Amino acid sequence: MLSAELIEIEKRYGAHNYEPLDVVIERASGAWVYDSEGRRYLDFLAAYSAVNQGHCHPAIFQAMCRQAEKVTLTSRAFRNDQLPLLYRDLYELTGFDMALPMNSGAEAVETALKAARKWGMAAKNIRDGQQEILVASNNFHGRTIAIVGFSSEEQYREGFGPFPSGFREVPFGNAEALRRAITPNTCAFLVEPIQGEAGILVPPAGYLREVAAICRENNILLILDEIQSGLGRTGKMFAYEHEGIRPDVLILGKALAGGYYPVSAVLSSNEVLGVFRPGDHGSTFGGNPLASAIARAALRVIVDEKLPERSAELGEFAMAYLRRVRSPHVVEIRGKGLWIGIELNRPARPFCEELKQRGVLCKETHTSVIRLAPPLVIDKADLEFGLEQVRAVLEENVSEPRERVPELAEATGP
Ligand SMILES: *Cc1c(COP(=O)(O)O)cnc(C)c1O
Repeated sequence: MLSAELIEIEKRYGAHNYEPLDVVIERASGAWVYDSEGRRYLDFLAAYSAVNQGHCHPAIFQAMCRQAEKVTLTSRAFRNDQLPLLYRDLYELTGFDMALPMNSGAEAVETALKAARKWGMAAKNIRDGQQEILVASNNFHGRTIAIVGFSSEEQYREGFGPFPSGFREVPFGNAEALRRAITPNTCAFLVEPIQGEAGILVPPAGYLREVAAICRENNILLILDEIQSGLGRTGKMFAYEHEGIRPDVLILGKALAGGYYPVSAVLSSNEVLGVFRPGDHGSTFGGNPLASAIARAALRVIVDEKLPERSAELGEFAMAYLRRVRSPHVVEIRGKGLWIGIELNRPARPFCEELKQRGVLCKETHTSVIRLAPPLVIDKADLEFGLEQVRAVLEENVSEPRERVPELAEATGP
């Protein structure tokens, strides 16, 4: 079916809670995606870092198929032979005592919040119902009611109240403000090491180290949401490694399953995750054998293909390239590894539309930021092609209509 027809059907029958670029992707491989007409585009978003391993990675595909013909879902009412192995892999990769598997990122965040509240009661004698969790300004942790309730983004909240209490916001990047906000009822601080949705906001060097020290001194849990920053994106396996610290609780999702499945997890100590007793918390799909087999393969690809190292290397190359671009529209370029935000002095959407015309898919974030986050398996030559298109749109006046890149219309891919 033609892209235009599919877009019409989608608009007619689907809720309009997104405003996607009008590109209808039919298949994908590595860093490239193909639309219904066979045009190919370089993916510079990687499903918000869920496909760090590249689209349709063959090793993950194989693990998925093998598991899919054995058993896919048991529920946690019974045990399965894959989940224990995922637990052990996560332990070996991260050193955290225990993991609790969920599906979406938001569910894992909710799980971490529940663990922190219960831990606050058990370990700090905070009266139940009085536990307080500090969060950062400009945070993004998902879309459940509790989570949007402490978002600083008005649109995420408007019309969705009432919200649970017990959350307080402190400015992101300011460790002293965190110290001042702590009360005897504070049990945790939830923060992204680098804020992705807020526009790839990198906090001042030393921030996380100070935050970790403040949390330790005050006996509160440092919960890092590495759903987007983790698993190689910033040039380390986890973004916290840049500051030589360890959080008390680590939240993973997105690339944990390489795009084949929603898999998320909360990792922590025996003391923290030990607060959950049978019946306290659960999920029908969390930890199912198909998810576990896929996640194991997805983690193996990240390690075997040295994706964190690739991200560091290619990120440095991309950053150096972009710093040479002379554009009247660019306010700031920032990022870590192959995760770069280009802040403009105007809306970024027209630039993303223009990039699409040139065969590169990006999505604006926070109105004025172009986010570059290609799959970490991307070839250097492909990355250079994408960066060249970014340079061209930044140097041009995008309001001027321009011709299509001719090779695009005919290209059908490798
Ligand atoms: C994507 C994301 C989430 C939410 O994950 P979902 O799978 O969409 O629920 C939470 N935190 C961060 C930092 C994210 O990037």
